[in-house]
Amino acid sequence: MIVRRRWTAAATTAILISAALSHPGTATAAPAADTAPITLAATETALVRVQLRDQAQLDRLVASGVDLANRPRTRDGRIIADLVLTGAQLADLTARGATATQVVQRAGDGSRHFADSVRAARARTAAGLGAPAAGQRTTAAVGVDTLAVQQAYWWTTGGQTFLQAQVATTATDDPDVEITVSWRTADGVTGSFPLYRFEDSGEYQYHYNVPQSVPSRPVQLTATSSLGGVSRAVTPTLWPNATPPPLPAGYQKDFIDAYLTPVDIQARIKRLARQYRDLVDVIDLPNKTQGYRRNAVAYLGDPAVAAVVVESVRFGDQGLNGVQVRTVDPGRPNRPLAVGYRDRVLTVTLATDAAGKTVSTTDDVAAAVNARQANRFRATVEDGSTGLPMPVAGPARLDDGLQGTEVPAKPWTVQALRLGVHRDGSRIGVLAYSQEHAREWATPLVTLEFAERMLANARTDPATRELLEQVDVFVIPTVNPDGANYSFNDYNFQRKNLVNHCEGPARDPKYRTSWGVDVNRNYTVGSYFDGYVGASANCLSGNYAGTAELSEAESGNVIALAKAHPNIRFAMNVHSYGGYFMWPPGAYRADGRITLPRPSIDESTLFLDSARRIVGAIAQERGTVTWPSQTGPVADVLYSAAGNSADQLYYELGIFAWDFEVGNDRWNPATGEWEGVGFQPPFDEAHGESQEYAGGLVELVRVARDHAAAEAATG
Ligand SMILES: [Zn+2]
Repeated sequence: MIVRRRWTAAATTAILISAALSHPGTATAAPAADTAPITLAATETALVRVQLRDQAQLDRLVASGVDLANRPRTRDGRIIADLVLTGAQLADLTARGATATQVVQRAGDGSRHFADSVRAARARTAAGLGAPAAGQRTTAAVGVDTLAVQQAYWWTTGGQTFLQAQVATTATDDPDVEITVSWRTADGVTGSFPLYRFEDSGEYQYHYNVPQSVPSRPVQLTATSSLGGVSRAVTPTLWPNATPPPLPAGYQKDFIDAYLTPVDIQARIKRLARQYRDLVDVIDLPNKTQGYRRNAVAYLGDPAVAAVVVESVRFGDQGLNGVQVRTVDPGRPNRPLAVGYRDRVLTVTLATDAAGKTVSTTDDVAAAVNARQANRFRATVEDGSTGLPMPVAGPARLDDGLQGTEVPAKPWTVQALRLGVHRDGSRIGVLAYSQEHAREWATPLVTLEFAERMLANARTDPATRELLEQVDVFVIPTVNPDGANYSFNDYNFQRKNLVNHCEGPARDPKYRTSWGVDVNRNYTVGSYFDGYVGASANCLSGNYAGTAELSEAESGNVIALAKAHPNIRFAMNVHSYGGYFMWPPGAYRADGRITLPRPSIDESTLFLDSARRIVGAIAQERGTVTWPSQTGPVADVLYSAAGNSADQLYYELGIFAWDFEVGNDRWNPATGEWEGVGFQPPFDEAHGESQEYAGGLVELVRVARDHAAAEAATG
């Protein structure tokens, strides 16, 4: 398993629990039904797994400040929580209808397990038994600092073998510590490479390397530090060491032959629904988006000298494109400022003094337009023009600036595909959704390739048919079609949606490519509005969180679909690029870098085991291996992303929610460098991504099927 990169109180507890569970002889196992109920001495403290009577009981416990060791979870209506309790508190809870099912760990167990583990490690060293498996925390107290090898993984892709390590020094505050890894292959070749210090939010995390090319399978790895620390020698582990079933002969794939715009996606959805009527429903999501539309706008005056920004209140396509605006000199003394609108021309007549000279300022003009034409126009003084004399200017033509001619200018209905033999909520559900971020063009290719593979093969491949018998699959190919249309037609790096919440000078059209809300920062759990890191209140920021949680149609649609279908238990949020595979927690608070609650040990195991399966399936297509250093909780392997959708699906709806960042770096053997692929790579690369990650989504469906079967088997 991947050892956690941080040692929060919760994580430490979790590790101790893990130790207890893996040594059943030293822990109190769950009682059989006929054994006596679990009790503790009144003053004894223990970590106890408790089945609570109801949600109200949990709420009261939380309100009382109870020590919850993990995130309580609900299963079949029962609420299970791991609590640190005294015997007296447990007796009180039991009297109120709760049932203790397991003493996970008694107060003294922690130090005992720790001492046991140190003894065992020493015994292994003394006996020359070699290193424990990679990933276990191994230390050796030699030199000034102590080094722990947290990960050592190897794999082969395209005939080339790679090695990646993650090592932590105890000299966390010394930015100058250098760590070097030495390796040896089975045939005795040796070499070494440096690791790099990784800090996040000002806090030391670990040292690591990007995957290093080695001549063949490495069998030993040792880390040394410039302070004299030397790690134990460990044996690197094969990553991900999971291979899906081989594709059967005649398996159909490769349904993607070009990038797809939202209009193309709409047509594809329609075709699939027509072609596979018995297996498909099309769901219109409840919130129509703004559509590919913007207010029409013009500079009145010259922004380099003095100007007012005039825009239409309605969208340009609603008859406002082409409207003109101008200022005129009345040609007479002592005239007041006047505003008139006639024949699609907005005319501002400037005020004059006794000598007949115009005296209106830019601020006067903006205020007059806003006061007298508020139902049609909105005016803002251009940034830098405030208080300047308003020149005679125009006519200037208002325009929304949108270049796309093939896109309907009207509110957009976002659609989901529902695939399955039984689309009635009786089967476990999987949700795959893509293009929350407009510029990530490869992502709908992934979800549409996945959808069509499932449908086409359901007709010809019994195994695929069986998957669609057992699983109810939901796919939203493009969550953010307006932004995507803008990305395809106007500004390819558009990330956000097209809704402009800016006020004042930020409405200047020179900022037009920076407007919009980051859909994946607009959700409610761990949000900017709750004080989490990784989103912004600045409407021009790439991570703008919006005016409030779920202020946007796009984010509301994802949550509405998940809520309407409570059988959805697994979800994949498909982004690009970089080659990541992540899960909650996805956000932390700035103060103390406190993350959202860590998943329980059981859930962490499910996340990681499933991830290895899916990483293995991705690799099946063209050998792309997602790095172990990029597989893990978002907050650990990427960054804090306040208000992201996976966190909301997991923490609010109890869905196992992952994120893909498709588009892994490619190894260039000529230069010996890893190269990034970008948001819109040459199509060959995007096509490759669609094929390999569609395979990953098929494996996710198998994970869901297996999960449902395991739950059914254990009742
Ligand atoms: Zn993204």
